[in-house]
Amino acid sequence: MKQELIERFIRYAKVNTQSDPNSHTCPSTSGQWELARMLVEELKSIGMEDVTVDENGYVMATLPANTDKNVPVIGFLAHMDTAPEFTGANVNPQIIEQYDGGDIVLNKEQGIILSPNDFPELAHYKGHTLITTDGTTLLGADDKAGIAEIMTAMNYLIQHPEIKHGKVRVAFTPDEEIGRGPHKFDVAKFGAQFAYTVDGGPLGELEYESFNAAEAKITIKGKNVHPGTAKGKMINSIKIAMEFQQQLPAHEAPEHTEGYEGFYHLLSFQGSVEETKLHYIIRDFDREQFEARKAKMKEIAASLAQKYGNDRITLEINDQYYNMREKIEPVRHIVDIAHEAMTNLSIEPKVKPIRGGTDGSQLSYMGLPTPNLFAGGENFHGRYEYISADNMVKAAEVIVEIIKLFEQKAS
Ligand SMILES: [Zn+2]
Repeated sequence: MKQELIERFIRYAKVNTQSDPNSHTCPSTSGQWELARMLVEELKSIGMEDVTVDENGYVMATLPANTDKNVPVIGFLAHMDTAPEFTGANVNPQIIEQYDGGDIVLNKEQGIILSPNDFPELAHYKGHTLITTDGTTLLGADDKAGIAEIMTAMNYLIQHPEIKHGKVRVAFTPDEEIGRGPHKFDVAKFGAQFAYTVDGGPLGELEYESFNAAEAKITIKGKNVHPGTAKGKMINSIKIAMEFQQQLPAHEAPEHTEGYEGFYHLLSFQGSVEETKLHYIIRDFDREQFEARKAKMKEIAASLAQKYGNDRITLEINDQYYNMREKIEPVRHIVDIAHEAMTNLSIEPKVKPIRGGTDGSQLSYMGLPTPNLFAGGENFHGRYEYISADNMVKAAEVIVEIIKLFEQKAS
């Protein structure tokens, strides 16, 4: 299984599928089409059925049931795109057999080294087969490892018909990294009762809580007058914007929070005397606290409007996604089954809240409860990204085990 996973993963990694937030097409980039077509052919060649790719690049396929038991249809998803913030062109994966626990030279000429001094987690991988970058691109284990693991698990089940299972659906989706993964996902066509994204980090990760998320855009209009004659006339929008920021609790920011703590994050601040624009994201696990944060921003805007004039300040808040826990808690057994699958394989489950969102955060609110499973990678979205092929095997085994458990628990 390991060799199969490595070969698949490297083949996918070499296709540049970097997504682009400024594109208005779906998928946002043509490289994702290239990978989608490759995956369609591969799904057919391993013997999957109902293999489809729709006009938006969503790939779906079925592993038909081989039991008469009444097993719920479950799905597995992974995303095809890689992060926009680091190049995904000409990815050239390097394989390190029997990692010795020391420094890994990613790129000799440029002196780029993956070192346990900077990344102490490397200690967990002594003796593993590691896949790294050549130091000049990201690797794309997020989430091509997930694709390779799902594909390999499906192939395993097709090769082992003695393992009984219900109907399984798989989907490979575009544009997760720019938050659009589920936007055109056809939940009804997918037809699963529950699903798992295979898009998490290191071994054992199991996630079913995400942030509630919104973004806020504030525009402040000033009044510019020659500074020599500005007394009593000039209104400096930059200073009003600073006042806005200063009224937010200073410690409720990403750099001061962890675990279940929420925050306001000032993403950008662009201004002149005449006009200043602030862009924030608001994050909280607790729905009430989340609403309170949005209310707080409205309060500040209202008080500044009172002080400087109503037409000087506009505030626009848009919700982005919600904590999937609300939708997963009522079908908690899907998390318990993933937990049990890991335990059966001697993997210690690491259940923790995601300080971010996944496709599952949106899908869960579209009627498809979708927790997240580890795919195995480390240091996502940059040149130091790497993955253990041994843990990719474990991820594929967890998928198979979950499918088995659903069958065993059915009647
Ligand atoms: Zn991902």
